[in-house]
Amino acid sequence: ILNVSNLRKTYRSGSRDLTVLDGISFDIEAGETFSIVGPSGSGKTTLLGLCAGLDHIDEGNIELCGTKLNQLNEDQLALLRNQKVGFIFQDFQLLPTLTALENVSVPLELQGNPNAGQVAKNLLEKVGLGDRYDHYPSQLSGGEQQRVALARAFSTTPDILFADEPTGNLDEETGEKVIQLLFELNKEMGTTLVIVTHDLDLAQLTQRIIRLKGGKIISNQTKTLA
Ligand code: ATP
Repeated sequence: ILNVSNLRKTYRSGSRDLTVLDGISFDIEAGETFSIVGPSGSGKTTLLGLCAGLDHIDEGNIELCGTKLNQLNEDQLALLRNQKVGFIFQDFQLLPTLTALENVSVPLELQGNPNAGQVAKNLLEKVGLGDRYDHYPSQLSGGEQQRVALARAFSTTPDILFADEPTGNLDEETGEKVIQLLFELNKEMGTTLVIVTHDLDLAQLTQRIIRLKGGKIISNQTKTLA
């Protein structure tokens, strides 16, 4: 479902070039759970952004859900993201002027789903926020906001979900609850899951782990399930 080959990314700041990703290649099968770990600055977020079609590819190829990303224009990319891809971010990224319910229902409405409101309510119920439909993000705790973000990410039953440090802004206990929900929803929907994280305990929950350092993959491990 995701094929990355010989990916390079260089940021230009002033007269200096900074190569952040240097010849990255890996494949992810549909339904796999996958994590990307590595020290701060190793290029994890950059890699996720490229794979999810959020950033421009300089060199190399990415095929996502059967489509080569560098052959798509902005509108086609947006359509692919809306129809097939879900996102969860460290800072939740809910729309502040929309209620919890609206945050979850908007992507469904964009897809033309006639039952957007009901589907969104069911999902919020599932993540334990059945009594928070009308709350705005500013009226919710961090853990609650991330649960709304989970409901939103899964609302469109994406083929693949990208999560960037999903527990990074949460305390340990709240983070564990969010992760439990993430894996529950994931199992139910059979989504491919790609997680960027510092948290090795979280990474251990996925079937495969790649380790980045200095823009290169230093290990690519498949866990043997007991
Ligand atoms: P962290 O774990 O701290 O979030 P990371 O592994 O996700 O780090 P990235 O955010 O991908 O790392 O950043 C990799 C490198 O690229 C860093 O050195 C960063 O300073 C640099 N970088 C990221 N975005 C840009 C940008 N837009 N312009 C210039 N340099 C950038």
